[in-house]
Amino acid sequence: MTQLDYLKDTFLFETSAQFLEVKEHEKGIAVLLSNTIFYPQGGGQPADQGQIIGTSGEFQVQDVRLDAEGVVWHFGSFTSGSFTANERVTLKINRERRIQHAKIHSAGHLLDCAVEKLQLTQIIPTKGFHFPEGPYVEYEGVLENGAEMLPQIQTALNEVIGQNPAVIVKELTYEEAQAQGISAPPGKSARIVNFEGFAACGCGGTHMPNAQEIGSIQLRKIKSKKGKTKISYEVSF
Ligand SMILES: [Zn+2]
Repeated sequence: MTQLDYLKDTFLFETSAQFLEVKEHEKGIAVLLSNTIFYPQGGGQPADQGQIIGTSGEFQVQDVRLDAEGVVWHFGSFTSGSFTANERVTLKINRERRIQHAKIHSAGHLLDCAVEKLQLTQIIPTKGFHFPEGPYVEYEGVLENGAEMLPQIQTALNEVIGQNPAVIVKELTYEEAQAQGISAPPGKSARIVNFEGFAACGCGGTHMPNAQEIGSIQLRKIKSKKGKTKISYEVSF
């Protein structure tokens, strides 16, 4: 298993790790490390990019994935040299990309807060798409007169931003998660995230510390289809 340092600190842009091995994979060549700050694509959030630098080689990370065994695969290519077994390497992630993704992801959670504030209980958040190209949150359930509701949701969202709630991240044991109705793999802990005063949900993403650090969020569209509702948004950087 790879130790996931990005879960602890969104703003840790550089760290060191022990190089373990280079592996061939159908997706390309990958570097495996003892620990990582590279976010692996998942939970609707894109992967980090950056460099892994050793004493006699440098690897450019293009894509990152977490497998079922908890191992992080850093996909990319060597721009020079190679690494030797067990050497200490320096990890550097692209900070603009990391912050942009954290803002878009936190904005999706904040949209849920606005929906909660308006008590729109007919829609329940199920998943998010937090990519820079057309981010949205998908809800189970239909909102009647959705298009007319959009300005109200925007107003509620602006009010929540005005209150500037902090982001709270907690690690729950499997039993605690069960008791709160949050899904976690059996025997494993669950990470839950919420804005202070609002409902928590299971999330492995990177987040900003509070609402105001996200910047302004503009709701774009609301669309209900086949029992699901999608609210898309944009974050101004
Ligand atoms: Zn999330």
